[in-house]
Amino acid sequence: MKRILVSGGAGFIGSHLCFRLVNEGHEVICLDNFFTGSKENVQHLLDYDNFELVRHDVSNPYSAEVDEIYNLACPASPIQYQVDPIQTIKTSVMGAINMLGLANRVKAKILQASTSEVYGDPIIHPQPECYWGNVNPVGYRSCYDEGKRCAETLFMDYHRQNNVKIKIIRIFNTYGPQMLPNDGRVVSNFIVQALRNEDITIYGSGTQTRSFQYVDDLIEGMTRMMATGDDFTGPVNIGNPGEFSILELAEKVIAMTGSKSHIVFRPLPHDDPKQRQPNITLAKEKLNWQPTVVLDAGLQKTIDYFKQIIK
Ligand code: NAD
Ligand code: UDP
Repeated sequence: MKRILVSGGAGFIGSHLCFRLVNEGHEVICLDNFFTGSKENVQHLLDYDNFELVRHDVSNPYSAEVDEIYNLACPASPIQYQVDPIQTIKTSVMGAINMLGLANRVKAKILQASTSEVYGDPIIHPQPECYWGNVNPVGYRSCYDEGKRCAETLFMDYHRQNNVKIKIIRIFNTYGPQMLPNDGRVVSNFIVQALRNEDITIYGSGTQTRSFQYVDDLIEGMTRMMATGDDFTGPVNIGNPGEFSILELAEKVIAMTGSKSHIVFRPLPHDDPKQRQPNITLAKEKLNWQPTVVLDAGLQKTIDYFKQIIK
């Protein structure tokens, strides 16, 4: 059994990862400043002897004897990461430096939760890992996109310069239980609006596309990536190639919830990518991984979750 640090472990994805690792019997330290995460997300783990929750901001150094580090700390919803863009980029860049420094000192393997946002508003479609992207360096999304791109650079440089054992995954839009009702991302927004019979807010015309991955598939891909040999660093795309327009998603959610909601159209945010779909050839080959949960099945589980928690 290993000692594993999960930064951002009290967030949406982090809490699923901690649950998986604790249940496998590993000793897990969950590091979080609770900016977009919450203690409630990991409440069910607090009784386990092999789980420890620490309030800490990763833009400051942290020390612990660990075998593996999953670096997830960073707000991921555009609305949340634009609240304090300077803190967002500090979290990505200083957080990466601090976690890589720790990995270097204690000889731990470290995985970076990177993102499809490194491809920006992509001109190549679907996106393979060899595509360098089309990112605005001075826009409202740049604090996140460029922060994550810089973190990838830092990971590769610590690997080349200091032989740190690194893994980079590029996560595509992921959804599921334990997203916050006010998270601001599209799947949680639409489900919460539908369950409350409120207007469903489509930004722009709804023709933009995303490829939605259920969280369980991501956790499987992420842990498989961590288990690969030292010679494979990635980056590797982890996402579900099923591509849907935002209008299709809205209609699906309304149909599945039997909602009386109406669709309304709101202005498109700056630099909102027009299309996004992962090419997962590399993940299939190197991780023997591909997603297994289709959108309807994942949405149903997520709708069931939100039915329990919202009034
Ligand atoms: P989330 O916002 O639910 O979780 C992020 C967690 O990081 C939260 O618990 C938050 O409190 C914590 N955090 C933020 N800043 C911190 C700091 N300075 N110090 C310590 N903790 C801090 O988001 P998520 O969807 O769970 O995303 C987790 C990771 O996966 C992020 O790095 C995100 O960029 C990446 N990712 C997610 C998606 C997705 O679709 N969910 C897609 C691509 C990449
Ligand atoms: N979106 C929308 N209505 C919402 C929230 C989001 O139409 O209430 C759109 C958003 O403009 C984007 C897509 O849904 O085109 C995905 O948005 P999200 O914030 O989930 O993720 P990202 O843009 O980072 O992929």
